[in-house]
Amino acid sequence: MKQWEKNIRQVTPYIPGEQPKMEQVVKLNTNECPYPPSPMVAQAVAKMDCGKFRLYPDPEVSELVGAIAEYEKVPTERVFVGVGSDDVLGMAFLTFFNDTKPVLMADVTYSFYDVWANLFHIPFETVPLNEQLEIEPEDYFKENGGVVFPNPNAPTAIAMPLSSVEKIIENNQDVVVIVDEAYIDFGGQSALRLTEKYDNLLVVRTFSKSRAMAGMRIGYAVGSEKLICAMKAVKFSYNSYTMNQAAIEAGVAAIRDDDYFKKIVGKIVETREQAKKKLTELGFSVTDSKTNFLFATHQTMAAEAIFEQLKERNIFVRYFKKERIDNYLRITIGTEKEMEILYDALREILS
Ligand SMILES: *Cc1c(COP(=O)(O)O)cnc(C)c1O
Repeated sequence: MKQWEKNIRQVTPYIPGEQPKMEQVVKLNTNECPYPPSPMVAQAVAKMDCGKFRLYPDPEVSELVGAIAEYEKVPTERVFVGVGSDDVLGMAFLTFFNDTKPVLMADVTYSFYDVWANLFHIPFETVPLNEQLEIEPEDYFKENGGVVFPNPNAPTAIAMPLSSVEKIIENNQDVVVIVDEAYIDFGGQSALRLTEKYDNLLVVRTFSKSRAMAGMRIGYAVGSEKLICAMKAVKFSYNSYTMNQAAIEAGVAAIRDDDYFKKIVGKIVETREQAKKKLTELGFSVTDSKTNFLFATHQTMAAEAIFEQLKERNIFVRYFKKERIDNYLRITIGTEKEMEILYDALREILS
């Protein structure tokens, strides 16, 4: 080994779901939206003045921050935007988790949290979900250096009532509590209004799922002015221009078209409820999903085998070879047509 090689940072990266290169696949593995973004986005992109690309974008991202602030009915000083919520969450970890006491996170949760904790040398402790794979608020009442959880949780798809979320915050007022609301638009109760009551609460949202914009990479956080100000200071110490001009303009168009947003979310929720019934009929147990995906385990056939056989048929779902959840599949809700293809394939595989 050469001397410089010894100085290479050793990390275990997050593994995103596969993005198959071939066409003609049924892609239900990364919780993307099966519908295109609002037609207003296409219009904004078509009208885009590429001459502007010559210039650096606005480092404050005022236009998009303004549109989000207006939508969420909060002052612009309480909004932070980033390159997807992964960027926002990473910045939040870097900004707020600096204690020697461990940050608390669930044992079964979004698998990027422990990756950032390791990258930033943040001590953390995993808190087991209960037998029903739910977060128990009381388990987060012990001493810690911060708390982070998604609501609804991923990949379990289970939402916590707002009263339970508030219990966790109430009992953790000496640290920053991050609530990752990547899937909140599909039926959970948002903690966003609680940011007015608790200045240590950060609520993180994304355009990737319910706004059909995963490819544009837009996420945001709402919190007290103090929290947002601290995040901006860290961001401007690292990279001032994270949001590109095209994403800013597309994002503004997307958030302004609330009717379209409600329409596609409603459609996905409808397909999800239908999918719960269909999978149950096929012998699966599914959790009570409040997201755009189902978390399902089959009574007789192993999840990994089903995963492999679906893949042979060019149907991609997500399988995590991880303790406690290695007999579950995470299935993104697709279009009705895609779901029919899935049901047919499952019927074949399971017969
Ligand atoms: C998808 C997801 C994210 C990240 O989404 P971005 O595309 O980076 O906005 C964050 N948290 C959870 C729980 C997710 O499922």
